[in-house]
Amino acid sequence: MTAKSMDELVSLCKRRGFIFQSNDIYGGLKGLYDFGPMGVELKNNLKQAWWKSMVYERDDIEGLDASILSSPIVFKQSGHEDTFTDPLIDCRSCKSRWRADQLADGACAKCHSKDLTDSRPFNLMFKTSIGPVDDGTSFAYLRPETCQQIFTNFKNILDSTNRTVPFGIAQIGKAFRNEITPRNFIFRVREFEQMELEFFVEPGTDDKWHKYWINSRYNWWINQGISKKNIELKKVSKDELSHYSKETIDIMYDFPHGKEELEGIANRTDFDLGSHTKNQKDFEISSKVIDNQNSTTKLAVQNINDKKWFIPFTIEPSAGVERGVLALLNEAYTEDKKNSRIVLALKSHLAPIKAAVIPLKRNNDKLVSYAKNIKENLQKVGLGRVILENTGNMGKNYRRHDEIGTPLCITVDFETLEDDSVTIRDRDTMNQQRMESKDLIKYYKKYFD
Ligand code: ATP
Repeated sequence: MTAKSMDELVSLCKRRGFIFQSNDIYGGLKGLYDFGPMGVELKNNLKQAWWKSMVYERDDIEGLDASILSSPIVFKQSGHEDTFTDPLIDCRSCKSRWRADQLADGACAKCHSKDLTDSRPFNLMFKTSIGPVDDGTSFAYLRPETCQQIFTNFKNILDSTNRTVPFGIAQIGKAFRNEITPRNFIFRVREFEQMELEFFVEPGTDDKWHKYWINSRYNWWINQGISKKNIELKKVSKDELSHYSKETIDIMYDFPHGKEELEGIANRTDFDLGSHTKNQKDFEISSKVIDNQNSTTKLAVQNINDKKWFIPFTIEPSAGVERGVLALLNEAYTEDKKNSRIVLALKSHLAPIKAAVIPLKRNNDKLVSYAKNIKENLQKVGLGRVILENTGNMGKNYRRHDEIGTPLCITVDFETLEDDSVTIRDRDTMNQQRMESKDLIKYYKKYFD
């Protein structure tokens, strides 16, 4: 099941502490959102699942956490200063601004006036000054994609890990884009996180690796709980391709507002390493790169057979964390009419709270201390957050934990004090079973295995 509308998701997210409008108490700031107590757990769990599958479960990928602020020269060489733009149109009547492709009928989407400016390129990168003197000459960009620092660190990582192609560098972190019209909740925002892998391969093997990563990333999303009927692959047309790409396949998801990109998997060729390398003319660079007079480092590897140096091609799966969270919330949102409840049927590894331990009576010392002990023991297992609910209202607690997707609720009642047994309730089936407290940890570990 999915949500019937974006409004249902927005309302659940606010009500249960997943996502809030940023700067809310001052009227909000457009295109920015804050992740609350449940949102931060869900987001972290999604990022952890990605990191696990990319770095821990493989032997050919290293991790990186690079800085967000970057020297302008990085984005000059990467082509972003010149081409990372969206076409901007102003409405002369109501002064609103639009991305050209959002005005299909040639009229302002707000006031319907046809008195519009011609479209002009608008660069999406945020700038900030660096150092104490703000004279406009010393500035930095907030990265619009996380990957450029992967390319600039290519040699550092190669040298410090003894890697050779094929191998990859993975990074999760913030990216910033001054989107003309942020919209659709957390789908298009100005500050977001990306989970990016740059996978470096020998030229000629790039098409094969591109296919491999398309397949792998599609299956990963299915494993996170996205249903096949809501996801599809779309080849990006030649005229929509980014300046660095030979071929891009987008993973499209059926969001509540329409089918749009969840992740892009691009064959970036040798464009990036070729753009940032020194001595460009020493290599056979296949893509059209910007001349580089500033780089101090050769971003190439040596072929072990013929000893020739070459610039690797890059395959890039790039996924947005916010779009992932939105898709997963949508997939999990279930209206259980029979039992008059909303259930967030998230996969258990993504659930913000793994188990809630609930003393039947609030502030009853014996029940609360028994429950606290269970909470601490389950918490120590280290699978994620376990919570003690000391509110005493079972109905309300079940309702709340169904809505935030807690797989297990464990109740401590007066019988517990006599026979050391507790009740475990399953989120999806609502089945309740009695169990001896000593068996809890084993059951809990097995459940999340
Ligand atoms: P779109 O066409 O929707 O603007 P894009 O093709 O510009 O996206 P990429 O540059 O390929 O996006 O970025 C990789 C991923 O980063 C996207 O698949 C998306 O998940 C995420 N992303 C990009 N821009 C935004 C944004 N403004 N808000 C949230 N996520 C974003």
